[in-house]
Amino acid sequence: MRHMVDLPAENLEALIIEDNEKKCWGCGLHILLPSNIPVFRCGWCGAITNLNTKGDRKDNSLWWRCVRDRCFLCIVSLFMLFIICGGVWALYPIVFSISFSCGIFHSFVTLLLIVTTLTTFSLAAFRPAGPPPNIVWGSYPVVSKGELQDYTFCHYCLRPKSPRTHHCRSCGTCVLDMDHHCPFIGNCVGASNHRYFIAFLISTIVSTLYVTTMCTFAALRTWPPLRFSKSFLDHRYRFSSTHLATGLVKEIAFAFLNSVFLLSTRGVILVYLSVASVSVQIGLCVLLWQQLCYIYEGETYLSLLNSSQGEGRVGVRDCRNILRFFGCPYSVLRHFSVFRWSRKRHKT
Ligand SMILES: [Zn+2]
Ligand SMILES: [Zn+2]
Ligand SMILES: [Zn+2]
Repeated sequence: MRHMVDLPAENLEALIIEDNEKKCWGCGLHILLPSNIPVFRCGWCGAITNLNTKGDRKDNSLWWRCVRDRCFLCIVSLFMLFIICGGVWALYPIVFSISFSCGIFHSFVTLLLIVTTLTTFSLAAFRPAGPPPNIVWGSYPVVSKGELQDYTFCHYCLRPKSPRTHHCRSCGTCVLDMDHHCPFIGNCVGASNHRYFIAFLISTIVSTLYVTTMCTFAALRTWPPLRFSKSFLDHRYRFSSTHLATGLVKEIAFAFLNSVFLLSTRGVILVYLSVASVSVQIGLCVLLWQQLCYIYEGETYLSLLNSSQGEGRVGVRDCRNILRFFGCPYSVLRHFSVFRWSRKRHKT
């Protein structure tokens, strides 16, 4: 349990050498505490000092996390490259065989989806996730009253950490409004790239939806015709209704399995792309839905995690949070105030 003490400013100037006297990391003032408590808040600057986490910390597993992230990033990049190249190679001859205009339209849509997905992916993966703002700290005259309210000290970065900032041990840095560390983009999702991350999810879902539709359509066009056995064709009208049903199912399954072995390489790639894109789609849809729920609640994944562990929630559930998140101008948001979508939250 945390114990925090707010001391009036006039008490802070006294420099009394006692066991219970502690130094605030934020403004450098000495604070006399009523007892030897490990966590306290400075009455002048508002910074929280936690004596339990004293000393500089070195993260020895940082290199391993970096290697893991680079590997994931390579796998994701290669997978995207395979989907793009495989899709272009397998689909183009079939689409252009339908009609030239159909082929041109397909080329245009493919190019648009590739550019959008790769651009949003690059912005989410290679943009700094949310560097915290540089603030002055450490000496009393420089730090004004309440300037570091609820700030804590990051013992990894050796700098102040705002209440909305978290230290990511995979990136080795503090991230403003950190949502989570995503190994697939090898980066944190924070204040600066959260919007691009959501755009990347939407773009990938739309792209995989297009890949599934086109590949299924092309696979059906190139699928070898089902060949039924001669005995089945000769006797199909002589069976009773029960025999007919079971015989029909068996014969279709057998003919289908036979036709799979006759599939061309192009057909196999089309089937694989279709199945793979559906699997990716399901996973990403769940992730996108979860992310939109967090944004609607005006929180991040980490802030909700902290609130479930006893810390207070600051967000208010409102659909305008989603519009605000995507940079909707205030003049447009005002019109939505007619609809009160926000719901009352009960304290847990
Ligand atoms: Zn202070
Ligand atoms: Zn840090
Ligand atoms: Zn990170």
